[in-house]
Amino acid sequence: MTQWLEEQARVRERRGLVRSPLVRVANDRMVDLASNDYLGLATDARLAEAAREAIAKWGTGATSSRLVAGTTELHVELEHALAQLTGMDAALVFSSGYLANLGVTTALGGPGTLIVADEQCHASLIDGFRLSRSEVLNFRHNSVQDAADKLANRTQPRALIAVESIYSVGGDAAPLSELLALAEGHDAMLLVDEAHSLGVSGSGSKAGWGAIAGTRLAGHPNVIVTATLSKALGSQGGAVLGSLLLREHLVNRARSFVFDTALAPPAAAAALAAIGVITAEPWRAAAVHHNAAALATGLQAARGRPGTAVDRSLGAVQSIPMASAEAALAAARAAHEAGVRVGCFRPPSVPDGVSRLRLTARATLTSADIEQACAALRSILERTS
Ligand code: PMP
Repeated sequence: MTQWLEEQARVRERRGLVRSPLVRVANDRMVDLASNDYLGLATDARLAEAAREAIAKWGTGATSSRLVAGTTELHVELEHALAQLTGMDAALVFSSGYLANLGVTTALGGPGTLIVADEQCHASLIDGFRLSRSEVLNFRHNSVQDAADKLANRTQPRALIAVESIYSVGGDAAPLSELLALAEGHDAMLLVDEAHSLGVSGSGSKAGWGAIAGTRLAGHPNVIVTATLSKALGSQGGAVLGSLLLREHLVNRARSFVFDTALAPPAAAAALAAIGVITAEPWRAAAVHHNAAALATGLQAARGRPGTAVDRSLGAVQSIPMASAEAALAAARAAHEAGVRVGCFRPPSVPDGVSRLRLTARATLTSADIEQACAALRSILERTS
């Protein structure tokens, strides 16, 4: 095994695929265009206070799985708040978004289920599909027609269509109403991963409530929503939302719920406080959209092309396609040296040929931050063309 590990390390080195986490230094004053703390809530005093209170009341850890003694009043309250925010009937909280996706896909999948999934679905969905032992057919990114073709001759009694409302790396949005019509026509369930839109999508008084709230999808019996509490909500954890019947099924059948220690009480409390902030302060989601527009405009001059590949109004995630994995890495490093932290996505996180920089237009960026970032990125992109 040791020899094999050494060989694997050499292969990664040869292919330029070595990954290691960038260690953050406290108060490093970098302009942060990399984190998923879209609304700036991870450092919000109100969330911190809620977490502290929860520790005082319940302790630092949940002490056991949800079905044994890990369900506190906080978990129940959080589930009600999540269901209310998104407009779904019921929610079930997991200890991460990854485990929520794993739980729902395995509990609904199996030999009798066909899964028709967008080719850009997140790894946590893909892993769930594999574990579920369902037949999986991928459709071309955002092509409803291709999804329809994949569903057309199904032999399985059940079908699940899986998408993300805003895609994690590309930042573009799924055509949700067409997909729901497709699901209805095929007696299929539509699973929508709201990881990158909860807290961000929505408009007016519902700004930040997500892509489902206030639409025909909310509370629809064919719709399942998954969410993470670790991005816009500034905490940790995940959830599956849907009908009461679905919730009851998951409580009994989702192994990543049944056999996992419950979400820690301070994380549940912080997420609950975040929902309060989101509903009270719709300006945060609006600021994300404002900053996304400013970033896109500021990058437009770069390399004489439209600086981002996505419609900037959709969410926080902006994506800059790069010529190669090496170019993406070099640009991310140069940005870091210029005091700007950006995401760098290259194989194996994305397929070959679609390496990119990923920028997040977080609500708490100042206009000076955006100017600094755009100036640095423009000069880097011009050099790496
Ligand atoms: N789904 C998507 C689309 C994601 O981007 C992520 C996190 N990167 C997850 C699910 C997993 O969520 P968590 O980080 O809470 O495990």
